[in-house]
Amino acid sequence: MASRDGLVLGIDLGGTDCKFGVVDSKGRVIRKARHRTQNENGPEQALALIAAHAREILGSDSMSGVGMGVPGPMSSREGIVFQAPNLQGWIDIPVREILETRLGIPVELHNDANAAAYGEYWAGAGRGACAMVLFTLGTGIGGGIIIDGELYTGPDDTAGELGHMIINFEGPPCGCGSHGCLEAYASATAIRRTVREAVASGQKTSIHIPKGREHNFGAKAVYDAAESGDKFAQDVLWRAGVALGIGAANIINIFNPDVIVYSGAMTHAGDYIFDSLRQVAHERSFKKPSLRVKITIAELGEDAGIIGAAGLALKKLQQGG
Ligand SMILES: [Zn+2]
Repeated sequence: MASRDGLVLGIDLGGTDCKFGVVDSKGRVIRKARHRTQNENGPEQALALIAAHAREILGSDSMSGVGMGVPGPMSSREGIVFQAPNLQGWIDIPVREILETRLGIPVELHNDANAAAYGEYWAGAGRGACAMVLFTLGTGIGGGIIIDGELYTGPDDTAGELGHMIINFEGPPCGCGSHGCLEAYASATAIRRTVREAVASGQKTSIHIPKGREHNFGAKAVYDAAESGDKFAQDVLWRAGVALGIGAANIINIFNPDVIVYSGAMTHAGDYIFDSLRQVAHERSFKKPSLRVKITIAELGEDAGIIGAAGLALKKLQQGG
């Protein structure tokens, strides 16, 4: 009978998959599992299955709590998911109460990007930082803010929407209804749109856009073209890096962070994005915080969410619930 102190279960709920990890008090993943998020019969059934998978991975280990990262607007204090855009029917679901009833241990709920940020702070690229900001670069741009070792979520759990910082007040429309957000310049979606529009107006490029996938071709096609010497592809990524650099400069001036961490598939573009990002971040921010800040890539990969969710649950338990 393996019973260890301080073990916490981290769950990272996504629209397609749900990841589970047993995490120890140092932020190490002891074992993990991944299951499809079966939402066909609605949230109650999906949560019943999640609880069953949670019990399965716990096995005979005694667990002091569960942390869960969820996509979409939610309240950490109330334990309610207001809306999960990729999970149909998830409207005002009291997830914490449902899971606590089924599992019999305390459950802590957070936004998934915030959980990932805490994971990188606790056990990844932000270890030892006083202030850390994480950008998640994907279809959209999200993030999380750690100040003095605490995740900053704001009174409504809406803080950390880093992709919607406005970097050009006359910029292109953004999915959020505003204009000129960072996400409208540097997300994978924005990069695809730039490529599509340029190709439509006659730009020659070796970027391979499969037929019928004009709206969802992999951003990797752009890096591959850049890698093979395609000047247009290199320029597209350079400019996305400039936009990210402006975003980073704002963060440096506002928060004086020790470290800014970037995660997500787009970080694979490496120097094609980070050269301009670093250059602009330093040029456009104050000297003192600019000299301090480390701009780096996340270390935990797709485990950041489960580690961070577990870490936040552990922190809550240590603070006495
Ligand atoms: Zn926006």
